[in-house]
Amino acid sequence: MRELIGECGSCGKPIYCKDGFFDGDQIDGKLLCNECSDNRDTGSN
Ligand SMILES: [Zn+2]
Repeated sequence: MRELIGECGSCGKPIYCKDGFFDGDQIDGKLLCNECSDNRDTGSN
């Protein structure tokens, strides 16, 4: 089962919740897909 949560705030890709797991990230109140979330994280930590 998957449920549409919203669109990625960066690339506009639809983000789904799969079996209760959120297939993306929420940063500063914005939805981000995993790809954009990874790009943001690059270089930090
Ligand atoms: Zn994205």
